[in-house]
Order: sequence, then C-alpha cells, then structure tokens
Amino acid sequence: MENEELYIGSHVGMSGPDFYLGSVKEALSYGANTFMFYTGAPQNSFRKPLNQLKIAEGRALLKANGINEDKIIVHAPYLINAANYGNLEIYDLAINLIVSELRRTAAFGCKVMVLHPGSHVGLGNKNGILALAKALDTVFECDGTNVKIALETMSGKGNEIGINFEEVKMIIDNCKHKDRLGVCMDTCHISDAGYDIKDFDHVLKEFDQIIGLDRLLCVHINDSKNERGAHKDRHENIGYGFIGFDTLNKIVHHPLLNGIPKVLETPYVNEKPPYKQEISMFRNNKFEDWRK
Ligand code: FE
Ligand code: FE
Ligand code: ZN
Repeated sequence: MENEELYIGSHVGMSGPDFYLGSVKEALSYGANTFMFYTGAPQNSFRKPLNQLKIAEGRALLKANGINEDKIIVHAPYLINAANYGNLEIYDLAINLIVSELRRTAAFGCKVMVLHPGSHVGLGNKNGILALAKALDTVFECDGTNVKIALETMSGKGNEIGINFEEVKMIIDNCKHKDRLGVCMDTCHISDAGYDIKDFDHVLKEFDQIIGLDRLLCVHINDSKNERGAHKDRHENIGYGFIGFDTLNKIVHHPLLNGIPKVLETPYVNEKPPYKQEISMFRNNKFEDWRK
C-alpha cells in the first residue's frame, strides 16, 4: 500500500536495572517502532516510584530513534476487576488502581492504556457492564489526566464481559465520559469469541457499524492455539495457529487500520522472544518457518 504508516511492535518488559530505558532498547532490538508495557508487575499492585524508572532516559532514546511516542501503549495490570460491585472493597480497590495507573501512564508520556473489562463474577454480563461503566465514570472524574482507556475485546472465557462488539459498545454507551474511551481489538480473542476472522473485512465492517472505527486505538496481533469460538484465550506464534499468517498479515497491513499501533503478545519459544522474527515477517509480507 502506498503511504502506509505501519506501527508494529510487541509487548516488552520493564524491569531493573534499566526499566523504561530497557523497554525502549528491547523494542529497538526487535526492529519495532511501537511497543506495549506494564508500569509494574501485571499480577499485583506494588509499584516502584516513577523517579526510579529511567523514564527521561527512555524517552530520550525514543526521540533519538525518531519513534512516535503517541503510538506507545500501556497495559493495565490484569488483576483489576471493576465489573463486580458485589464486593465493594474490591470494587473500590479497582477504581483506585485504575486511577493510579492512568497517572503513571501519563508520566511516561503515553496516551493510551489498555484495560481488560473484567469479570462479572456471577452478576451477569449486563450488571457487570453497568458496574464497569460506573467505575470508569468515577475514575474519569478524578484522575486528572487525558489518557484514554482502550477496552480490550475478550475471548469469553469464564465470566468475562466485553466478549463481543455489542458488549463493548454497551460499556461505552453507559459511560458519561465517552471521549476518554476507545477499544483494543485482540485478534486471538475475537477469533476465540466466535468471530470469523478469516473474513476480516466483514468483522471490521461489523466493528464499524456497532462501535465505530474511530474508537479503535490499538490492535493486538496474536495467532490462536484454538479454533474459532473456543473461548480459551491461548495465544500462538504468528502463522502457527488457527488464524494463520495470511489473515494476520492482511490485518496488519489493512488500509482502514493504517496508523493504528499493532502489538504482538505471542508466546516465547525456548525462553526466547519471537518478536524480531514475527515483526520481520510482517514487514516482508512473508511467512518464515523460523520455529522448526
Ligand atoms: Fe490484554
Ligand atoms: Fe491482548
Ligand atoms: Zn489474551
């Protein structure tokens, strides 16, 4: 495609001693021009103070490499569940955690934070959706940032909410601060949720009709270990799963998704990250059987 603006990268770490500087170095080593990171361990709420994270050094390295900071994505820790007000203690904790993660995201100079909508834990999807929308309004009324939250499309395992475009739309519709909300489409999740991703133009049309393409802020590019509709959420390396390279490559280069950051979250192979190979396959439009 002419004038293609391709932003492709992967999930990267953010651990000591280099922290954010290390995240940027890792992304550059994969040939990426965007990336996604957690501002601390994804499974707990312990956070190192910002002044220890080499943020200025990381941002300087981004600038030196001409990387557009606006395309870099933060992922909220996945322990957050603001879709269940059955337990108000946990609900309040989730709200506080989203607020502090948004402030941290802003401190890195990032504009988008991906959030899993969460689990209704028996309340039912409708109530889970209303609980989350209410939590997000509380968040947006006090966080003091302009970071957007991208709600991730989920695979429908367990009690997850946000498992189809209608549910994601319902979250947005029930929120007063719609200007702060967008969507992150995960290819593994939507296939596992039942969408026929091989007919991606149709899926995208549906997304546009129900949610609106202007809400799409990020795409997670993952193959799936399971067949369409399996509701499993197990990511596979690009070209080795049920979605396949051709479909994913079409999505990466889709003209309607031009300029939207694409982030790989595929599994390590023999304890090594696959991202350098996977990014280069997409840049070359050609699958390579590198894993054999
Ligand atoms: Fe995610
Ligand atoms: Fe994802
Ligand atoms: Zn997943």
